[in-house]
Amino acid sequence: MTKHKYCPICRTKLKIKVFNNKERLTCPKCNYIYYKNPPPSVCAIVKNRGNILLIKRGIEPHLGEWAFPCGFIEYGETAEDACLRELKEETGLSGTIKSLYNVKSSEIDIYGHLIIIAYIVLVDDKKPVGGDDAVDAKYFSIDKAKQIIIPEQRSCLNDENII
Ligand SMILES: [Zn+2]
Repeated sequence: MTKHKYCPICRTKLKIKVFNNKERLTCPKCNYIYYKNPPPSVCAIVKNRGNILLIKRGIEPHLGEWAFPCGFIEYGETAEDACLRELKEETGLSGTIKSLYNVKSSEIDIYGHLIIIAYIVLVDDKKPVGGDDAVDAKYFSIDKAKQIIIPEQRSCLNDENII
């Protein structure tokens, strides 16, 4: 269920307790309940003249593969700000949020269950440059992008709404 053994508040050994038919690790001393939630991440979907922006990942999972600019939301940061920050870090492009595209659950190596919040983002007409966690950033035709994008994000490109 989880590898956590001790209460992060009082360090008592956690015990499994059943709430609403679901087993949860709880602290018998201070009643802390360990909720295991999927972390929220964001991705930027950027179109330019019918092409779509992808980055080549410089880190695992999917090292060396192409994906939408994406990353985790920092504590205290809004989802929109996280999306624009990741876009800037990974492509050098400044953008503005056009609309919320979709919210999906995904299973990905290393991190397991994630929530992905995808936004359609408008950018200035500059050449993208890979940076931070990305070793490259380029626009691809939709057909090419569908072939190379990581499987967890491919379904976004099958949706007629964004093309
Ligand atoms: Zn405790």
